[in-house]
Amino acid sequence: MTRVQIDRSGTLNITAEELARAGFFPGDNLSLETADNSIILRKLEPEAVDSVRQAISRKNLQTSIRFIKGIGPKLSELLSKRDINTVEDALFCLPNRYEDRRQLTPVSQLKAGLTQVFYGRVVSVESATTKGGRTVFEVIVQDESGSIALKWFKANYVWMKRIWQTGRRGIFTGDISVFGSQREVHHPDVDWLQPEEDAATFMTSDSNDFGCIVPIYPLTEGLHQKGMRKVIRQVMDEFLPDIENILPDRILSLFKYLPLQQAVKQVHLPPADMNLSELNSGNTLQHHSLAFDEFFFWELGLALKKQGIALEEGIAFKVSHRYTKELVKLLPFKLTAAQRRVLTEIKADMMAPHPMHRLVQGDVGSGKTIVALMAALVAVENGYQVAIMAPTEILAEQHWHTVHNWCEKLGISVVLLTSGMKGNSRKELMQQVANGRASIVIGTHAVIQEKVEFSRLGLGIVDEQHRFGVMQRGILKKKGTNPDILVMTATPIPRTLSMTLFGDLSLSVIDELPPGRTPVITKIYYESRRKHVYDLIRREVAQGRQSYVIYPLVDESEKSDMKAAIQMAEHLQTEIFQGLRLGLLHGRMKPDEKEAVMGSFKNRELDILVATTVIEVGIDVPNATIMVIEHAERFGLSQLHQLRGRVGRDIHQSYCILLTSGKLSEDGEKRLKVMESTTDGFKIAEADLEIRGPGDFLGTRQSGMPDFRVASILRDGVILEQARSVATDILRLDQELKGSENQRIKNELVRRWGTRLELAGIA
Ligand code: ADP
Ligand code: MG
Repeated sequence: MTRVQIDRSGTLNITAEELARAGFFPGDNLSLETADNSIILRKLEPEAVDSVRQAISRKNLQTSIRFIKGIGPKLSELLSKRDINTVEDALFCLPNRYEDRRQLTPVSQLKAGLTQVFYGRVVSVESATTKGGRTVFEVIVQDESGSIALKWFKANYVWMKRIWQTGRRGIFTGDISVFGSQREVHHPDVDWLQPEEDAATFMTSDSNDFGCIVPIYPLTEGLHQKGMRKVIRQVMDEFLPDIENILPDRILSLFKYLPLQQAVKQVHLPPADMNLSELNSGNTLQHHSLAFDEFFFWELGLALKKQGIALEEGIAFKVSHRYTKELVKLLPFKLTAAQRRVLTEIKADMMAPHPMHRLVQGDVGSGKTIVALMAALVAVENGYQVAIMAPTEILAEQHWHTVHNWCEKLGISVVLLTSGMKGNSRKELMQQVANGRASIVIGTHAVIQEKVEFSRLGLGIVDEQHRFGVMQRGILKKKGTNPDILVMTATPIPRTLSMTLFGDLSLSVIDELPPGRTPVITKIYYESRRKHVYDLIRREVAQGRQSYVIYPLVDESEKSDMKAAIQMAEHLQTEIFQGLRLGLLHGRMKPDEKEAVMGSFKNRELDILVATTVIEVGIDVPNATIMVIEHAERFGLSQLHQLRGRVGRDIHQSYCILLTSGKLSEDGEKRLKVMESTTDGFKIAEADLEIRGPGDFLGTRQSGMPDFRVASILRDGVILEQARSVATDILRLDQELKGSENQRIKNELVRRWGTRLELAGIA
């Protein structure tokens, strides 16, 4: 540290010799601080230099777009409609396609199907009315090689006539099409040339828009392509150097990726030798490099979170086999190898002195309930309570039946807690939970309500995870002191997606169905063959089997949903299936009514159950062999798969009939065809993901999908795997990210995802 006097004029003059005497040398980084009448210089250690540099550049990238030269309040408002508020937002707003404007094409060589740039002189201007009464404004332009027609539909004539005068020369850009034998361009872009100006000179003078591969950005109304390009150019000129290349070459070179700064630059300004179709499909080294960067930080965050959980203190259960062995003896079947393997994984987690966070994935009918019950018994053996949370009341009730049934024989007390319960009985149940008399508590989200207190919660089980958000998992966890958490899902989530979503959970897969099941036969039937479907139902019922008939949501309101189901049930009972026993189940019924209907269906007191989608998840009636889905085209794939999973649960051949009116959308048809072609849940999920895209796949935003700017889970699966393996390697060698290189990575990680991943306590 040294003090330097300032002279009267306020300037500071230090010679190299003076500095050397004070111990400062060329290349040193100094900090400078003013104190009264003097200035204090300090030498910065390399790490401090990094953090200062980071602080400065972060500030720059977070600079509001409003403060950029040439961007006024009006433009910045338009930009904010596209979520561009900061410099960083602008730099990462990628073109959604590119236009080849590297050179002018002679008019005679313009090719239909391409977007091309050409020079021409206006030779005629006219407007004509088509047979349909539409007026078309048409201009013919020509160069030395030939001529082409430019056309506008719905143009303002007076205005157009003023601009398009014969003899004017310009450079035109547009999609070339063919109409009959004539080539034409609809609504081209035009850049007029000054009277003496030649095209080549003009093109070099506007390097933003010509002579290169030009980026085309997503716009909003009022924002034009040229303006947008200018904004991005401006921001790049000023701020590109502030994009930090945080990922070291060591990592990038593993896959030959580009440094972030270079990748950003080149997606906005592609080098002239790049391949246009690769650019347009986002399949370039530049795009891949950006995707890797995004995936890497997300995966590192998840890995860090997982590691953080692994380091927390939790309950180390002992496996005494007291209840589990007994249950195995009671079961009328042997556990499948997959069930046993998954149980071993769960038990190992439970015995460890850290909280379990495990996801069990198993297709519908793979037998997740028993696995969950076995895990619950381990906790109960250790004197702890278990909470089992299901997404619907019907499902909670069914779980209660199954679990209560077995536990009664083992002398374990199980209670059911749903939001439908009121008053004293509810109060009393809650007391049993609070004083520990209830060992297993089953319910809907009522289980995690504020007022519910556990005496000693040791294990929380969440069934059908995709129906619950990450939040609910967190609340359940807080009902005990670091209880183990087991999450179960029947939605077979494609690997790339589950890595992204549940990377902080360990994964077990029940990849085997209990033996003796025959795959369900699935058929699409059109309305015209409805009678045939009814015959099929009669035939099955005559053989002692049972049938479901499912109704979709008719519109958004539950009321009409219910009405359709009620009407259908009436119609079927009085006109189609006289003499058969029909039941009705819909979302508006009271819990005890629903339970009564489900109960009689289970006990074979009903032959046919007409229901809305309340039946969708988890319902288990093995004797039911036929599932008729009305308006099947209105359901999503995973919903159809869930519904179909209600049959085929026993040795009898089962059927799933997809009834449809025949007016199918493209996606609707795809979905039904997928259902017909496979019963493999994973294949269905992959197809679903492809049809719907990851955003919709799991329903809502709260499912926890991160918003990647560039990376696509569908397209970039391989890159995701790379990112994950690098992230894991880094943490393995440096758990706390203490190395200087890793510290920078960690800072950036916290900046990007800290809040989202709740990394505060970990990083
Ligand atoms: P899901 O995984 O869809 O929740 P369930 O747990 O409801 O499936 O099980 C489906 C059916 O299979 C139930 O009737 C259950 O009793 C039965 N089951 C479970 N495991 C086995 C097994 N190992 N062998 C035979 N049947 C089984
Ligand atoms: Mg289930």
